Amino acid sequence: MALSLTVYPEHRRRVEAALADPRLGGRWYVVSACRSNELQKRLYADYLAGRGPLAAIPGRSPHEIGAPPWRDAFCHATDLGRHGGNPPGGYIPNRKGPRHPEWALLEQVCNDHGLVRTVQKEEWHVQLSGSAPVHIPPRPGETEYLDLTGDEHQLLQSAQEQAVEARRLAVEQAKRTAAVETKLDRLDMLVTGLFDDLVSDGRDILADHHGVGRNTPGRRLLERISSQVHRT
Ligand SMILES: [Zn+2]
Repeated sequence: MALSLTVYPEHRRRVEAALADPRLGGRWYVVSACRSNELQKRLYADYLAGRGPLAAIPGRSPHEIGAPPWRDAFCHATDLGRHGGNPPGGYIPNRKGPRHPEWALLEQVCNDHGLVRTVQKEEWHVQLSGSAPVHIPPRPGETEYLDLTGDEHQLLQSAQEQAVEARRLAVEQAKRTAAVETKLDRLDMLVTGLFDDLVSDGRDILADHHGVGRNTPGRRLLERISSQVHRT
């Protein structure tokens, strides 16, 4: 695929020089350069749905003509593929295991021709040196991709395990607290009910023995107890 005239001229010149570099031996070619906003929207939807590879947010991909910060009549990124790569698009799978040496060679040659990688997970995506990194948010529910060493990977894993354990303990504690609160509520109702019964029994007894006069000392005492219980 020849680079179209909508690729930024300096970018086009450097990519063509890199691909013609004898160290790459003609094994690499351009898979994708300029895209319309419509195409970027489709690619981004595929990415979010788990049907396609990484794609930048529509309107912000350097593959789109007129994207920021340039906002000109060109696109500013190229995706490179290797003939005979797998899948047929030409990308070399690089998700697991050590980095394929061909990627290291491609990056070295590109660097020598003034091109750099700007997307962390994409070995094949190059832009002019000095370009800002392109941040692609992870899919919902996915964590950020990190280039980790073995030790860092272990640290991250143990931190994740500890976080899971801490969450489990917190949930358990919350359940216990809720159970205790329910018991306390029941106890409170029981005690209040008991006092109500006592006060009402006392009233009945006073009524039987002293009549129903409002100002008897026993009556006043009962009113005080009753109001104390309902205030607490
Ligand atoms: Zn790209």
